Amino acid sequence: MPIVGVLSGEDDFVDYFPAFLNLQGRRCLIVGGGDIAHRKARLLLSAGAEISVVAPETSRAFAQFISKHGLRLNPREFRASDVEGNRLVVSATGKAQVERAVFEASERAGVFCNGVDDEANCSFITPAIVDRSPVVIAISSGGTAPVLARKLRAMIEVLLPKQLGRLAKLAGRWRTRVAERINNMPGRRRFWETVFDGLMTSRTIGGGADQAEQELERLLADFEGSPAARGEAWLVGAGPGDPELLTLRAVQIMQQADVILHDRLVSAEVLQLARRDADLVSVGKSPGCGADSQQEVNALLVSLVRSGKRVCRLKGGDPFIFGRGGEELEALNEAGLRVEIVPGITAAAGCASAAGIPLTHRDVSQSIVFVAAHGKDSVDRLDWPSLARDRQTLAFYMAVKRFPVLMRQLIAHGRPATTPIAIVERGTMADQHVVRGRLGQLVMLAEAQRIRAPAILIVGDVAALGGRVVSGGSEPRVAEETQTQLICAKQRT
Ligand code: SAH
Repeated sequence: MPIVGVLSGEDDFVDYFPAFLNLQGRRCLIVGGGDIAHRKARLLLSAGAEISVVAPETSRAFAQFISKHGLRLNPREFRASDVEGNRLVVSATGKAQVERAVFEASERAGVFCNGVDDEANCSFITPAIVDRSPVVIAISSGGTAPVLARKLRAMIEVLLPKQLGRLAKLAGRWRTRVAERINNMPGRRRFWETVFDGLMTSRTIGGGADQAEQELERLLADFEGSPAARGEAWLVGAGPGDPELLTLRAVQIMQQADVILHDRLVSAEVLQLARRDADLVSVGKSPGCGADSQQEVNALLVSLVRSGKRVCRLKGGDPFIFGRGGEELEALNEAGLRVEIVPGITAAAGCASAAGIPLTHRDVSQSIVFVAAHGKDSVDRLDWPSLARDRQTLAFYMAVKRFPVLMRQLIAHGRPATTPIAIVERGTMADQHVVRGRLGQLVMLAEAQRIRAPAILIVGDVAALGGRVVSGGSEPRVAEETQTQLICAKQRT
């Protein structure tokens, strides 16, 4: 199985365990005196190994190398005892019998052995490498396809800038300094991401060392003053459900955030647009949740931002329309944290469009009232005489359980029982369900059609307007509209 350093999934297994060995001052044996042995000696020496060579004959170049670097040479045939005391043995004699003997002796002595290009006599293999020291990329085909490994190496070679090693060294020198000036982990991570994104492709790093240092200082100074150096929060509206109804800004933020705190109402399709490695946390607010759980959400939000995270608080619809976004904003402001607010399409607007209902209309409705019908007490406190007035549209949120009282009160305060209504359940989503009728039929229709939250109730003459509509154009919506028309047809008969 080809290995390029990365393994994924629990079921993966590797034939060879990938590792980088520290051979500084550690003894290694090379058996053989030809070009291949020479090449291996060079690599081992560059890793700081203490090398001895056993070979009856050595090439002229290798002999020079051995004497130049003071390697120990035993100019004779291999003996089993040679392997003792070594960490690694590399055998490149080209003679099958000798290779076997070296491998067997190594196995007995518990020393790792590599018979060059001879998998049967290997307890370790060497990868193809892309060397940008201190960055080294090792590629292995697990002994199955060395040519493939070399091809991959060539592909990676062209991808990686030559100055990568310098960049890594520079980063190493600046680590402590950066840690002193950006005092939170996520902020530091963002700084280094910016640095690597910018410098990987910049010529600066290829120029003089001073120039690179100056560039890094400039980047650090810029970064220190920027919002990215600390945590921050965004209160973002996720719209009514259809991901295409998100704002561009909402998508950008979902792509940047470290953590996304979302409500139960935010659809799975919307969450799919989050950055792959963002933490998705459902703060599961559901109808009827009390002040305590809201306080917990506030506290979580504040503590995450304080720890340097960039937090997207993603709320269904618009954050400031029945979303308790105001309380979260206050908590963040009190903690002195920065916050940006991104509006979203509120459910009434999204649902009305998806059902083809204009919320206002010159002839029949001059105003629109968004009403929260959440909780018995708040419904009791509603200004019924004003809500029952003509020429206005009412959009009731969180109302499914309160349909009987809404119907009774509106009619009792003078709104005719024949006033058109529409209930839009799961509006803008693939399984949207639209039911139209008259105010006096509200409870009966909701029961017959098994309406469940989330649903919006639209009351007013506009609810009779608009016919077949295909906003977004997906099949289920067309089907729902057909159903709507059937209901309308039934009412007419
Ligand atoms: N901040 C949100 C409202 C939160 S209150 C907004 O601006 O839309 C939750 C209520 O919103 C639900 O009970 C329901 O009445 C309504 N709602 C949210 N999404 C909806 C959807 N896709 N279809 C119908 N109603 C929805």
